[in-house]
Amino acid sequence: MAAGSLIPLVAGNWKMNGLAASRTEFAKVLAGAAELTGKAELMVCPPVTLIRDFAGAARGSGVTIGGQDCHADPSGAHTGDISAEMLADAGAGAVIVGHSERRTDHQETDAMVRAKAQAAFRAGLTAIVCVGEQRGQREARKTLEVVGAQLQGSLPDGATAAQLVIAYEPVWAIGSGLTPTPADVAEVHAFIRKRLSDRFSAAGGRIRILYGGSVKPANAGELLTISDVNGALVGGASLKATDFLGIAAIYR
Ligand code: PEP
Repeated sequence: MAAGSLIPLVAGNWKMNGLAASRTEFAKVLAGAAELTGKAELMVCPPVTLIRDFAGAARGSGVTIGGQDCHADPSGAHTGDISAEMLADAGAGAVIVGHSERRTDHQETDAMVRAKAQAAFRAGLTAIVCVGEQRGQREARKTLEVVGAQLQGSLPDGATAAQLVIAYEPVWAIGSGLTPTPADVAEVHAFIRKRLSDRFSAAGGRIRILYGGSVKPANAGELLTISDVNGALVGGASLKATDFLGIAAIYR
């Protein structure tokens, strides 16, 4: 499916950054969002401490607020964890699951990611499921094998396009300033699209596939216009509203 036939999504992953004072920066995102209405959707995934505040501020703007992770269970004895239901209750509309930093720092397996995505569906959230190869896996030409296995293991059955977004994030490109070539991005996104269509039939053609890894205003035009790239998951550059909006500006 050609890029542009789905409404693109530009999602910002703030990671463990942001205090109450960050409301000012977020307000700048909200102010810039109106220009994108009908052309692209914006999402900001702040730390959980800011979700309720940001969701309130974003009401009516079209900007969605997302969590960065959730527990698979709806509630229970899991000190320090947050359930998908809690994120929804705080005003989130989506949650990132299976980010490479969660897979590495917290030893999250595909089965755990799948359970978290299932929890997101249960709570009425869109799950942004992250996949991507490590540098050594790319060098060993195992990228498609790795991504294929992650998709197979991390995605719940029966997902719809409203419930699921995929983020292809080569681990070596995250926060490094490095990016794959457009041809490499095109190859992986086409592969993901085929896998989604095989598994989810018509819905598979409507599930958005984001590219993530060192996206900036300077490279957004090249990366986000590739076929089957339906938006971006942005880390570092999402912390500054001008950069975040500068990336989304390619869709104006
Ligand atoms: C990310 O962590 O999801 C990410 C894409 O980070 P960055 O944009 O900083 O590479």
